Amino acid sequence: MRICMSQSESPSSTNFLRAIIQQDLAENKNDGRVLTRFPPEPNGYLHIGHARSIWLNFSLAEEFGGQCNLRFDDTNPEKESQEFIEAIKEDVRWLGYQWAGEPKFASSYFDQLYEWALHLIKDGKAYVCHLTPDQVREYRGWATEPGKPSPYRDRSVEENLAEFEKMRAGDYDEGVCSLRAKIDMASPNMNLRDPMLYRIRKVSHHQTGDKWCIYPMYDFAHGQEDALEGVTHSICTLEFQANRALYDWFIENLPVPARPRQYEFGRLNLNYTVTSKRKLKQLVDDNVVSGWDDPRMPTVSGMRRRGFSARAIRNFCASIPVSGKGNSDVDVAQLESAIRDDLNTVAPRAMCVMNPLKVVISDLPADHCELLQAPYHPDQEMGMRDIPFTREILIDAADFKEEYSKKFKKKFTPGKRIRLRNAYVIEAQDYEKDAEGKVTQVNAVLVPNTLGVDPEDGDKPKGVVHWVSADKGVKAEIRLYDRLFSHPNPDAGDEDFKSHLNPNSFEVVTAVAEPSLVAAKPEDCFQFEREGYFVADRYDHNEQKMVFNKTIGLRDTWSNK
Ligand code: ATP
Ligand code: MG
Repeated sequence: MRICMSQSESPSSTNFLRAIIQQDLAENKNDGRVLTRFPPEPNGYLHIGHARSIWLNFSLAEEFGGQCNLRFDDTNPEKESQEFIEAIKEDVRWLGYQWAGEPKFASSYFDQLYEWALHLIKDGKAYVCHLTPDQVREYRGWATEPGKPSPYRDRSVEENLAEFEKMRAGDYDEGVCSLRAKIDMASPNMNLRDPMLYRIRKVSHHQTGDKWCIYPMYDFAHGQEDALEGVTHSICTLEFQANRALYDWFIENLPVPARPRQYEFGRLNLNYTVTSKRKLKQLVDDNVVSGWDDPRMPTVSGMRRRGFSARAIRNFCASIPVSGKGNSDVDVAQLESAIRDDLNTVAPRAMCVMNPLKVVISDLPADHCELLQAPYHPDQEMGMRDIPFTREILIDAADFKEEYSKKFKKKFTPGKRIRLRNAYVIEAQDYEKDAEGKVTQVNAVLVPNTLGVDPEDGDKPKGVVHWVSADKGVKAEIRLYDRLFSHPNPDAGDEDFKSHLNPNSFEVVTAVAEPSLVAAKPEDCFQFEREGYFVADRYDHNEQKMVFNKTIGLRDTWSNK
Protein backbone atom coordinates (compact mmCIF):
# COMPACT_ATOMS: atom_id res chain seq x y z
CA MET A 1 0.00 0.00 0.00
CA ARG A 2 1.48 3.34 -0.98
CA ILE A 3 -0.06 6.11 1.02
CA CYS A 4 -0.58 9.50 -0.50
CA MET A 5 -2.35 12.28 1.35
CA SER A 6 -3.20 15.74 0.24
CA GLN A 7 -1.70 18.57 2.26
CA SER A 8 -5.12 19.69 3.44
CA GLU A 9 -6.09 16.31 4.85
CA SER A 10 -5.85 16.46 8.60
CA PRO A 11 -3.80 13.57 10.02
CA SER A 12 -6.08 13.49 13.03
CA SER A 13 -9.07 12.55 10.89
CA THR A 14 -7.29 9.31 10.04
CA ASN A 15 -6.25 8.34 13.56
CA PHE A 16 -8.61 5.82 15.18
CA LEU A 17 -6.85 6.18 18.54
CA ARG A 18 -7.99 9.78 18.84
CA ALA A 19 -11.58 8.66 18.56
CA ILE A 20 -11.06 6.07 21.31
CA ILE A 21 -9.51 8.62 23.67
CA GLN A 22 -12.24 11.15 22.92
CA GLN A 23 -14.86 8.54 23.76
CA ASP A 24 -13.06 7.56 26.98
CA LEU A 25 -12.89 11.20 28.04
CA ALA A 26 -16.56 11.70 27.24
CA GLU A 27 -17.33 8.76 29.56
CA ASN A 28 -14.91 10.09 32.18
CA LYS A 29 -12.93 6.85 32.12
CA ASN A 30 -9.68 6.96 34.15
CA ASP A 31 -11.06 10.10 35.86
CA GLY A 32 -10.49 12.00 32.67
CA ARG A 33 -6.75 11.32 32.69
CA VAL A 34 -4.66 10.46 29.63
CA LEU A 35 -1.28 8.84 30.23
CA THR A 36 0.55 7.11 27.38
CA ARG A 37 4.10 5.78 27.30
CA PHE A 38 6.90 5.08 24.87
CA PRO A 39 8.68 1.88 25.98
CA PRO A 40 11.91 1.28 24.02
CA GLU A 41 14.27 -1.54 24.77
CA PRO A 42 17.74 0.02 25.21
CA ASN A 43 19.37 -2.45 22.82
CA GLY A 44 20.06 -0.02 19.98
CA TYR A 45 19.41 3.48 18.74
CA LEU A 46 15.95 4.74 17.84
CA HIS A 47 14.92 4.62 14.19
CA ILE A 48 12.23 6.16 12.01
CA GLY A 49 9.70 3.51 13.13
CA HIS A 50 10.28 4.52 16.74
CA ALA A 51 9.92 8.17 15.73
CA ARG A 52 6.45 7.29 14.49
CA SER A 53 5.57 5.65 17.83
CA ILE A 54 7.06 8.59 19.76
CA TRP A 55 5.08 11.05 17.68
CA LEU A 56 1.89 9.04 18.23
CA ASN A 57 2.24 8.60 21.99
CA PHE A 58 3.43 12.11 22.77
CA SER A 59 1.12 13.95 20.41
CA LEU A 60 -1.97 12.07 21.63
CA ALA A 61 -1.07 12.86 25.24
CA GLU A 62 -0.40 16.49 24.35
CA GLU A 63 -3.63 16.88 22.42
CA PHE A 64 -5.75 15.65 25.32
CA GLY A 65 -3.92 17.48 28.09
CA GLY A 66 -2.19 14.32 29.27
CA GLN A 67 1.39 13.13 29.60
CA CYS A 68 3.64 10.47 28.18
CA ASN A 69 6.15 8.36 30.10
CA LEU A 70 9.47 7.23 28.74
CA ARG A 71 10.04 3.71 30.03
CA PHE A 72 13.06 1.61 29.25
CA ASP A 73 12.02 -1.98 28.76
CA ASP A 74 15.25 -3.35 30.17
CA THR A 75 14.40 -7.02 30.83
CA ASN A 76 17.17 -8.35 28.55
CA PRO A 77 20.43 -7.18 30.13
CA GLU A 78 22.85 -8.96 27.72
CA LYS A 79 21.84 -6.81 24.79
CA GLU A 80 21.31 -3.52 26.60
CA SER A 81 23.60 -0.71 27.65
CA GLN A 82 23.82 2.73 29.22
CA GLU A 83 25.05 4.10 25.89
CA PHE A 84 21.73 3.16 24.31
CA ILE A 85 19.78 4.65 27.22
CA GLU A 86 21.54 7.99 26.85
CA ALA A 87 21.14 7.99 23.07
CA ILE A 88 17.41 7.26 23.34
CA LYS A 89 16.89 10.10 25.83
CA GLU A 90 18.77 12.52 23.59
CA ASP A 91 16.83 11.46 20.50
CA VAL A 92 13.40 11.79 22.14
CA ARG A 93 14.31 15.28 23.36
CA TRP A 94 15.72 16.24 19.98
CA LEU A 95 12.48 15.12 18.34
CA GLY A 96 10.87 17.81 20.48
CA TYR A 97 9.24 15.82 23.27
CA GLN A 98 9.52 15.82 27.04
CA TRP A 99 8.45 12.78 29.03
CA ALA A 100 6.63 13.03 32.34
CA GLY A 101 8.97 13.16 35.35
CA GLU A 102 12.06 10.96 35.40
CA PRO A 103 12.55 8.21 32.81
CA LYS A 104 11.14 4.92 34.09
CA PHE A 105 12.80 1.51 33.95
CA ALA A 106 11.27 -1.95 33.88
CA SER A 107 14.15 -2.89 36.19
CA SER A 108 12.91 -0.54 38.89
CA TYR A 109 9.84 -2.81 39.15
CA PHE A 110 11.79 -6.06 39.50
CA ASP A 111 11.00 -6.36 43.24
CA GLN A 112 7.28 -5.88 42.62
CA LEU A 113 7.26 -8.27 39.66
CA TYR A 114 9.02 -10.87 41.79
CA GLU A 115 6.35 -10.45 44.48
CA TRP A 116 3.69 -10.94 41.84
CA ALA A 117 5.39 -14.08 40.57
CA LEU A 118 5.18 -15.43 44.14
CA HIS A 119 1.54 -14.38 44.22
CA LEU A 120 0.76 -16.48 41.13
CA ILE A 121 2.67 -19.46 42.55
CA LYS A 122 0.75 -19.24 45.82
CA ASP A 123 -2.52 -19.13 43.87
CA GLY A 124 -1.50 -22.28 42.01
CA LYS A 125 -1.23 -20.26 38.78
CA ALA A 126 2.51 -20.58 38.13
CA TYR A 127 5.06 -23.37 38.35
CA VAL A 128 8.75 -23.99 37.99
CA CYS A 129 9.30 -26.13 34.92
CA HIS A 130 12.48 -28.15 34.43
CA LEU A 131 11.97 -28.76 30.72
CA THR A 132 14.78 -27.37 28.57
CA PRO A 133 13.92 -24.48 26.24
CA ASP A 134 13.84 -26.95 23.30
CA GLN A 135 11.48 -29.27 25.16
CA VAL A 136 9.24 -26.36 26.11
CA ARG A 137 8.94 -25.50 22.43
CA GLU A 138 8.21 -29.10 21.53
CA TYR A 139 5.52 -29.46 24.23
CA ARG A 140 3.85 -26.23 23.15
CA GLY A 141 2.31 -27.84 20.04
CA TRP A 142 1.17 -26.01 16.94
CA ALA A 143 -1.60 -23.57 16.13
CA THR A 144 -3.64 -26.50 14.83
CA GLU A 145 -2.59 -28.99 17.50
CA PRO A 146 -2.91 -28.58 21.28
CA GLY A 147 0.20 -28.64 23.43
CA LYS A 148 1.18 -31.30 25.98
CA PRO A 149 1.27 -30.43 29.67
CA SER A 150 4.72 -30.24 31.19
CA PRO A 151 5.46 -33.08 33.64
CA TYR A 152 6.21 -30.33 36.20
CA ARG A 153 2.84 -28.62 35.79
CA ASP A 154 1.26 -30.11 38.89
CA ARG A 155 4.01 -29.44 41.39
CA SER A 156 2.71 -28.34 44.78
CA VAL A 157 2.77 -24.69 45.82
CA GLU A 158 5.45 -25.48 48.41
CA GLU A 159 7.66 -27.23 45.89
CA ASN A 160 7.24 -24.36 43.42
CA LEU A 161 8.10 -21.78 46.06
CA ALA A 162 11.21 -23.75 47.00
CA GLU A 163 12.28 -24.25 43.38
CA PHE A 164 11.68 -20.61 42.50
CA GLU A 165 13.78 -19.59 45.48
CA LYS A 166 16.58 -21.85 44.20
CA MET A 167 16.31 -20.16 40.80
CA ARG A 168 16.56 -16.75 42.46
CA ALA A 169 19.48 -17.80 44.63
CA GLY A 170 21.50 -18.89 41.60
CA ASP A 171 21.42 -22.64 42.36
CA TYR A 172 20.53 -23.49 38.77
CA ASP A 173 22.38 -22.80 35.55
CA GLU A 174 20.84 -20.86 32.70
CA GLY A 175 18.25 -22.82 30.75
CA VAL A 176 17.84 -25.54 33.37
CA CYS A 177 14.41 -24.36 34.42
CA SER A 178 11.99 -21.46 34.21
CA LEU A 179 8.90 -20.13 35.91
CA ARG A 180 5.78 -20.57 33.78
CA ALA A 181 2.18 -19.42 34.11
CA LYS A 182 -0.36 -22.24 34.38
CA ILE A 183 -3.02 -21.20 31.90
CA ASP A 184 -4.18 -23.51 29.11
CA MET A 185 -2.00 -25.83 27.01
CA ALA A 186 -4.86 -26.30 24.54
CA SER A 187 -5.64 -22.62 23.99
CA PRO A 188 -5.89 -21.64 20.31
CA ASN A 189 -3.85 -18.58 21.35
CA MET A 190 -0.29 -19.90 21.65
CA ASN A 191 0.56 -17.06 24.04
CA LEU A 192 -1.68 -18.69 26.64
CA ARG A 193 0.00 -22.11 26.52
CA ASP A 194 1.79 -21.76 29.84
CA PRO A 195 4.08 -18.89 28.83
CA MET A 196 7.39 -18.32 30.52
CA LEU A 197 7.41 -15.65 33.26
CA TYR A 198 10.99 -15.78 34.51
CA ARG A 199 14.21 -17.14 33.09
CA ILE A 200 17.70 -17.55 34.51
CA ARG A 201 20.35 -15.18 33.13
CA LYS A 202 23.61 -15.01 35.04
CA VAL A 203 24.56 -11.57 33.77
CA SER A 204 24.98 -8.20 35.42
CA HIS A 205 22.30 -5.69 34.69
CA HIS A 206 23.17 -2.11 33.75
CA GLN A 207 20.72 -0.79 36.39
CA THR A 208 20.48 -3.48 39.07
CA GLY A 209 24.03 -4.86 38.94
CA ASP A 210 24.28 -8.41 40.31
CA LYS A 211 21.14 -8.28 42.42
CA TRP A 212 19.26 -10.67 40.13
CA CYS A 213 20.10 -13.77 38.16
CA ILE A 214 16.48 -14.31 37.14
CA TYR A 215 14.79 -11.81 34.86
CA PRO A 216 11.09 -11.39 34.02
CA MET A 217 9.99 -11.93 30.44
CA TYR A 218 8.83 -8.86 28.55
CA ASP A 219 5.28 -10.25 28.48
CA PHE A 220 5.20 -10.64 32.25
CA ALA A 221 6.57 -7.14 32.82
CA HIS A 222 4.85 -4.94 30.34
CA GLY A 223 1.20 -4.80 31.33
CA GLN A 224 1.95 -4.75 35.05
CA GLU A 225 4.32 -1.81 34.57
CA ASP A 226 1.58 0.04 32.74
CA ALA A 227 -0.72 -0.72 35.67
CA LEU A 228 1.85 0.51 38.21
CA GLU A 229 2.36 3.75 36.31
CA GLY A 230 -1.36 4.30 35.76
CA VAL A 231 -0.98 4.28 31.97
CA THR A 232 -4.45 4.75 30.53
CA HIS A 233 -3.80 3.92 26.87
CA SER A 234 -1.05 1.37 26.23
CA ILE A 235 -0.31 1.79 22.56
CA CYS A 236 1.81 -0.76 20.75
CA THR A 237 2.26 -2.23 17.30
CA LEU A 238 -0.03 -4.86 15.79
CA GLU A 239 2.27 -7.83 16.27
CA PHE A 240 1.36 -7.72 19.98
CA GLN A 241 -2.36 -8.12 19.32
CA ALA A 242 -2.35 -11.81 20.18
CA ASN A 243 -0.39 -11.08 23.38
CA ARG A 244 -3.17 -8.87 24.68
CA ALA A 245 -5.11 -11.87 26.06
CA LEU A 246 -2.06 -12.79 28.12
CA TYR A 247 -1.56 -9.23 29.42
CA ASP A 248 -5.22 -9.19 30.40
CA TRP A 249 -4.84 -12.56 32.16
CA PHE A 250 -2.03 -11.14 34.31
CA ILE A 251 -4.06 -8.04 35.11
CA GLU A 252 -7.04 -10.19 36.13
CA ASN A 253 -4.98 -12.56 38.26
CA LEU A 254 -2.79 -10.08 40.09
CA PRO A 255 -3.61 -7.38 42.67
CA VAL A 256 -2.57 -4.57 40.32
CA PRO A 257 -3.52 -0.96 41.16
CA ALA A 258 -5.10 -0.21 37.74
CA ARG A 259 -6.36 -1.90 34.59
CA PRO A 260 -4.60 -0.47 31.57
CA ARG A 261 -5.91 -1.30 28.14
CA GLN A 262 -3.77 -2.05 25.13
CA TYR A 263 -4.45 -0.74 21.63
CA GLU A 264 -2.50 -1.84 18.59
CA PHE A 265 -1.62 0.16 15.49
CA GLY A 266 0.21 -0.70 12.25
CA ARG A 267 3.99 -0.51 12.14
CA LEU A 268 5.64 1.94 9.83
CA ASN A 269 7.67 0.20 7.13
CA LEU A 270 9.67 2.20 4.62
CA ASN A 271 10.88 0.77 1.35
CA TYR A 272 14.64 0.96 0.58
CA THR A 273 15.08 0.95 4.36
CA VAL A 274 15.83 -1.57 7.09
CA THR A 275 14.29 -0.80 10.48
CA SER A 276 15.14 -3.84 12.53
CA LYS A 277 17.51 -2.90 15.34
CA ARG A 278 19.20 -6.27 15.01
CA LYS A 279 20.03 -5.60 11.37
CA LEU A 280 21.01 -1.99 11.98
CA LYS A 281 23.37 -3.24 14.69
CA GLN A 282 24.90 -5.64 12.18
CA LEU A 283 25.64 -2.71 9.83
CA VAL A 284 27.37 -0.91 12.70
CA ASP A 285 29.27 -3.96 13.98
CA ASP A 286 30.43 -4.93 10.48
CA ASN A 287 31.61 -1.37 9.79
CA VAL A 288 29.33 -1.09 6.78
CA VAL A 289 28.48 2.35 8.15
CA SER A 290 30.49 4.63 10.42
CA GLY A 291 28.19 4.14 13.42
CA TRP A 292 24.59 4.30 14.58
CA ASP A 293 24.56 7.98 13.57
CA ASP A 294 26.02 7.48 10.09
CA PRO A 295 24.02 9.91 7.92
CA ARG A 296 22.72 7.01 5.81
CA MET A 297 21.18 5.22 8.78
CA PRO A 298 17.41 5.47 9.32
CA THR A 299 18.15 6.14 12.98
CA VAL A 300 17.02 9.39 14.57
CA SER A 301 20.65 10.36 15.19
CA GLY A 302 21.60 9.37 11.62
CA MET A 303 18.78 11.42 10.14
CA ARG A 304 19.78 14.32 12.36
CA ARG A 305 23.37 14.11 11.16
CA ARG A 306 22.11 13.89 7.60
CA GLY A 307 20.35 17.24 8.08
CA PHE A 308 16.72 16.14 8.50
CA SER A 309 14.99 18.45 10.96
CA ALA A 310 12.92 17.16 13.87
CA ARG A 311 10.02 19.24 12.52
CA ALA A 312 10.18 17.52 9.13
CA ILE A 313 10.30 14.06 10.76
CA ARG A 314 7.28 14.94 12.91
CA ASN A 315 5.41 16.24 9.85
CA PHE A 316 6.18 13.03 8.01
CA CYS A 317 4.96 10.89 10.93
CA ALA A 318 1.77 12.93 11.14
CA SER A 319 1.10 12.56 7.41
CA ILE A 320 0.60 8.78 7.62
CA PRO A 321 -2.85 7.55 8.67
CA VAL A 322 -2.85 5.56 11.93
CA SER A 323 -4.32 2.17 11.12
CA GLY A 324 -5.57 -0.44 13.54
CA LYS A 325 -5.80 -3.08 10.82
CA GLY A 326 -2.58 -3.27 8.86
CA ASN A 327 0.97 -2.01 8.74
CA SER A 328 1.75 1.24 6.96
CA ASP A 329 4.04 0.48 4.05
CA VAL A 330 5.28 3.85 2.93
CA ASP A 331 7.51 4.91 0.06
CA VAL A 332 10.74 6.45 1.40
CA ALA A 333 10.23 9.13 -1.28
CA GLN A 334 7.42 10.43 0.95
CA LEU A 335 9.89 10.96 3.79
CA GLU A 336 12.38 12.58 1.42
CA SER A 337 9.69 14.85 0.10
CA ALA A 338 8.78 15.95 3.64
CA ILE A 339 12.47 16.78 4.17
CA ARG A 340 12.63 18.82 0.93
CA ASP A 341 9.42 20.71 1.73
CA ASP A 342 10.82 21.70 5.10
CA LEU A 343 14.29 22.63 3.88
CA ASN A 344 12.92 24.58 0.95
CA THR A 345 11.37 27.08 3.34
CA VAL A 346 14.08 27.23 6.00
CA ALA A 347 17.41 26.66 4.25
CA PRO A 348 19.40 29.74 3.20
CA ARG A 349 20.80 29.54 -0.31
CA ALA A 350 24.50 29.43 -1.04
CA MET A 351 26.79 28.47 -3.91
CA CYS A 352 29.29 25.66 -3.79
CA VAL A 353 31.11 24.15 -6.76
CA MET A 354 31.63 20.40 -6.47
CA ASN A 355 33.89 19.80 -9.45
CA PRO A 356 35.62 23.12 -10.11
CA LEU A 357 36.68 24.37 -13.56
CA LYS A 358 38.47 27.72 -13.75
CA VAL A 359 36.95 30.47 -15.88
CA VAL A 360 39.12 33.56 -16.54
CA ILE A 361 37.15 36.67 -17.42
CA SER A 362 39.94 38.19 -19.43
CA ASP A 363 38.57 41.71 -19.74
CA LEU A 364 38.55 42.23 -15.97
CA PRO A 365 41.69 43.53 -14.22
CA ALA A 366 43.66 40.96 -12.22
CA ASP A 367 42.77 42.61 -8.92
CA HIS A 368 39.07 43.03 -9.72
CA CYS A 369 36.93 42.26 -6.68
CA GLU A 370 33.36 43.45 -6.69
CA LEU A 371 31.04 42.59 -3.81
CA LEU A 372 27.72 41.52 -5.22
CA GLN A 373 24.65 41.07 -3.06
CA ALA A 374 22.40 38.05 -3.14
CA PRO A 375 19.37 37.17 -1.03
CA TYR A 376 19.73 34.27 1.37
CA HIS A 377 16.27 33.08 0.37
CA PRO A 378 14.03 33.85 -2.61
CA ASP A 379 10.81 34.08 -0.54
CA GLN A 380 11.65 34.36 3.14
CA GLU A 381 13.04 37.46 4.83
CA MET A 382 16.56 36.25 5.56
CA GLY A 383 18.56 39.28 4.44
CA MET A 384 21.40 39.49 1.93
CA ARG A 385 24.88 38.08 1.65
CA ASP A 386 27.99 39.44 -0.08
CA ILE A 387 29.45 37.44 -2.91
CA PRO A 388 32.88 38.51 -4.20
CA PHE A 389 33.10 38.56 -7.99
CA THR A 390 36.65 38.32 -9.33
CA ARG A 391 38.52 37.89 -12.61
CA GLU A 392 39.00 34.19 -12.01
CA ILE A 393 35.98 32.20 -11.00
CA LEU A 394 35.09 28.50 -10.72
CA ILE A 395 32.10 26.81 -12.30
CA ASP A 396 31.20 23.13 -12.25
CA ALA A 397 33.06 21.22 -14.98
CA ALA A 398 29.78 19.61 -16.02
CA ASP A 399 28.41 23.03 -16.98
CA PHE A 400 30.97 23.50 -19.78
CA LYS A 401 30.95 21.68 -23.10
CA GLU A 402 33.65 21.93 -25.73
CA GLU A 403 31.10 21.90 -28.49
CA TYR A 404 27.62 23.25 -28.77
CA SER A 405 24.84 20.72 -29.19
CA LYS A 406 21.08 21.00 -28.94
CA LYS A 407 21.09 18.48 -26.12
CA PHE A 408 23.35 20.70 -24.07
CA LYS A 409 22.10 24.04 -25.25
CA LYS A 410 21.91 25.38 -21.71
CA LYS A 411 25.62 24.70 -21.17
CA PHE A 412 28.55 27.05 -21.49
CA THR A 413 30.31 26.60 -24.89
CA PRO A 414 32.80 28.70 -26.89
CA GLY A 415 30.90 31.53 -28.57
CA LYS A 416 27.90 31.07 -26.24
CA ARG A 417 26.76 32.92 -23.18
CA ILE A 418 25.81 31.81 -19.71
CA ARG A 419 24.35 33.67 -16.74
CA LEU A 420 26.31 33.46 -13.54
CA ARG A 421 23.77 33.02 -10.76
CA ASN A 422 23.32 36.27 -8.76
CA ALA A 423 25.83 37.99 -11.10
CA TYR A 424 26.58 38.85 -14.74
CA VAL A 425 26.32 37.18 -18.11
CA ILE A 426 29.63 36.00 -19.55
CA GLU A 427 30.56 34.68 -22.97
CA ALA A 428 33.08 31.89 -23.55
CA GLN A 429 35.84 32.49 -26.10
CA ASP A 430 38.15 29.53 -25.94
CA TYR A 431 39.51 26.94 -23.54
CA GLU A 432 42.72 25.11 -22.56
CA LYS A 433 43.33 21.38 -22.05
CA ASP A 434 45.95 19.32 -20.30
CA ALA A 435 47.93 16.39 -21.76
CA GLU A 436 45.08 13.98 -20.96
CA GLY A 437 42.60 16.09 -22.86
CA LYS A 438 40.86 17.42 -19.78
CA VAL A 439 39.63 20.99 -20.00
CA THR A 440 41.58 23.02 -17.44
CA GLN A 441 40.51 26.58 -18.12
CA VAL A 442 37.87 28.51 -20.00
CA ASN A 443 38.58 32.03 -21.19
CA ALA A 444 35.58 34.33 -21.27
CA VAL A 445 34.53 37.96 -21.43
CA LEU A 446 31.98 39.87 -19.42
CA VAL A 447 28.82 40.97 -21.21
CA PRO A 448 28.47 44.54 -19.86
CA ASN A 449 25.46 45.83 -17.93
CA THR A 450 23.96 42.42 -17.26
CA LEU A 451 23.73 42.42 -13.47
CA GLY A 452 20.17 41.17 -12.97
CA VAL A 453 19.11 42.29 -16.48
CA ASP A 454 19.23 40.77 -19.94
CA PRO A 455 22.00 41.74 -22.37
CA GLU A 456 21.25 44.93 -24.35
CA ASP A 457 22.00 43.19 -27.65
CA GLY A 458 19.13 40.74 -27.07
CA ASP A 459 21.36 37.63 -27.12
CA LYS A 460 20.00 36.07 -23.94
CA PRO A 461 21.90 33.19 -22.32
CA LYS A 462 20.02 29.85 -22.21
CA GLY A 463 21.34 28.64 -18.88
CA VAL A 464 22.22 29.81 -15.39
CA VAL A 465 25.15 28.32 -13.50
CA HIS A 466 26.39 28.57 -9.93
CA TRP A 467 29.96 29.74 -9.38
CA VAL A 468 32.43 30.97 -6.78
CA SER A 469 35.40 33.30 -6.85
CA ALA A 470 38.57 31.26 -7.47
CA ASP A 471 40.69 33.15 -4.95
CA LYS A 472 38.02 34.15 -2.40
CA GLY A 473 36.20 30.80 -2.41
CA VAL A 474 36.86 28.40 0.47
CA LYS A 475 37.62 24.70 0.24
CA ALA A 476 35.01 22.41 1.78
CA GLU A 477 34.84 18.68 2.30
CA ILE A 478 31.55 17.48 0.90
CA ARG A 479 30.19 14.08 1.88
CA LEU A 480 27.74 12.94 -0.73
CA TYR A 481 25.19 10.52 0.66
CA ASP A 482 22.48 8.57 -1.06
CA ARG A 483 20.10 5.77 -0.09
CA LEU A 484 21.91 2.97 1.74
CA PHE A 485 20.04 0.22 -0.12
CA SER A 486 19.34 0.04 -3.83
CA HIS A 487 16.62 -2.60 -3.46
CA PRO A 488 13.07 -1.57 -2.49
CA ASN A 489 12.75 -4.43 0.04
CA PRO A 490 16.26 -5.15 1.26
CA ASP A 491 15.22 -7.54 4.04
CA ALA A 492 12.30 -9.30 2.36
CA GLY A 493 13.90 -11.99 0.18
CA ASP A 494 16.06 -15.00 0.92
CA GLU A 495 19.34 -13.21 0.23
CA ASP A 496 21.31 -11.48 2.95
CA PHE A 497 19.95 -7.94 3.27
CA LYS A 498 23.52 -6.67 2.98
CA SER A 499 23.70 -7.92 -0.60
CA HIS A 500 21.33 -5.06 -1.47
CA LEU A 501 23.56 -2.26 -0.25
CA ASN A 502 23.87 0.63 -2.69
CA PRO A 503 27.57 0.75 -3.66
CA ASN A 504 27.23 4.46 -4.44
CA SER A 505 25.74 5.60 -1.15
CA PHE A 506 28.83 7.54 -0.02
CA GLU A 507 31.46 9.62 -1.76
CA VAL A 508 33.70 12.44 -0.56
CA VAL A 509 34.66 15.36 -2.78
CA THR A 510 36.59 18.54 -2.17
CA ALA A 511 34.50 21.47 -3.33
CA VAL A 512 34.92 25.23 -3.27
CA ALA A 513 32.24 27.19 -1.46
CA GLU A 514 31.35 30.86 -1.40
CA PRO A 515 33.10 32.64 1.48
CA SER A 516 29.87 33.50 3.36
CA LEU A 517 29.72 29.81 4.36
CA VAL A 518 32.69 30.28 6.68
CA ALA A 519 30.16 31.58 9.23
CA ALA A 520 28.21 28.28 9.13
CA LYS A 521 27.84 26.53 12.46
CA PRO A 522 27.53 22.76 12.91
CA GLU A 523 24.02 21.58 11.98
CA ASP A 524 23.25 24.72 9.91
CA CYS A 525 21.50 23.69 6.72
CA PHE A 526 21.73 25.24 3.26
CA GLN A 527 20.52 24.82 -0.22
CA PHE A 528 23.59 24.76 -2.43
CA GLU A 529 22.03 26.11 -5.56
CA ARG A 530 21.46 23.51 -8.26
CA GLU A 531 23.07 20.81 -6.09
CA GLY A 532 20.69 20.06 -3.25
CA TYR A 533 20.38 20.50 0.48
CA PHE A 534 23.44 20.22 2.70
CA VAL A 535 24.13 20.44 6.41
CA ALA A 536 27.32 21.43 8.25
CA ASP A 537 28.42 18.23 9.96
CA ARG A 538 27.46 18.09 13.61
CA TYR A 539 30.88 16.84 14.71
CA ASP A 540 33.50 17.44 12.03
CA HIS A 541 32.64 20.92 10.72
CA ASN A 542 34.55 23.78 12.38
CA GLU A 543 36.11 27.15 11.65
CA GLN A 544 39.29 25.54 10.35
CA LYS A 545 37.64 22.94 8.17
CA MET A 546 34.27 23.10 6.50
CA VAL A 547 32.51 19.75 6.24
CA PHE A 548 29.05 19.47 4.72
CA ASN A 549 26.84 16.40 4.41
CA LYS A 550 24.46 16.10 1.52
CA THR A 551 20.98 15.84 2.99
CA ILE A 552 19.00 15.30 -0.18
CA GLY A 553 18.95 16.32 -3.83
CA LEU A 554 16.57 18.96 -5.13
CA ARG A 555 14.53 16.36 -6.96
CA ASP A 556 13.71 12.69 -6.55
CA THR A 557 16.17 10.91 -8.82
CA TRP A 558 15.04 7.42 -7.76
CA SER A 559 11.50 7.41 -9.08
CA ASN A 560 12.65 6.92 -12.70
CA LYS A 561 15.25 4.25 -11.93
P1 ATP B 1 12.99 -3.37 16.45
O1 ATP B 1 12.21 -4.27 15.55
O2 ATP B 1 13.69 -2.28 15.75
O3 ATP B 1 13.88 -4.12 17.40
P2 ATP B 1 11.18 -3.11 18.63
O4 ATP B 1 9.72 -2.96 18.48
O5 ATP B 1 11.67 -4.41 19.14
O6 ATP B 1 11.87 -2.65 17.29
P3 ATP B 1 11.33 -1.47 20.93
O7 ATP B 1 12.49 -0.78 21.51
O8 ATP B 1 10.66 -2.53 21.71
O9 ATP B 1 11.80 -2.01 19.54
O10 ATP B 1 10.25 -0.40 20.45
C1 ATP B 1 9.71 0.58 21.28
C2 ATP B 1 8.38 0.99 20.74
O11 ATP B 1 8.49 1.45 19.41
C3 ATP B 1 7.42 -0.18 20.73
O12 ATP B 1 6.22 0.22 21.36
C4 ATP B 1 7.21 -0.49 19.29
O13 ATP B 1 5.91 -0.91 19.07
C5 ATP B 1 7.51 0.84 18.60
N1 ATP B 1 8.02 0.62 17.26
C6 ATP B 1 9.14 -0.05 16.92
N2 ATP B 1 9.27 -0.12 15.58
C7 ATP B 1 8.20 0.52 15.06
C8 ATP B 1 7.75 0.79 13.73
N3 ATP B 1 8.43 0.37 12.67
N4 ATP B 1 6.60 1.48 13.58
C9 ATP B 1 5.92 1.92 14.64
N5 ATP B 1 6.28 1.70 15.92
C10 ATP B 1 7.41 1.01 16.13
MG1 MG C 1 10.52 -4.76 21.30
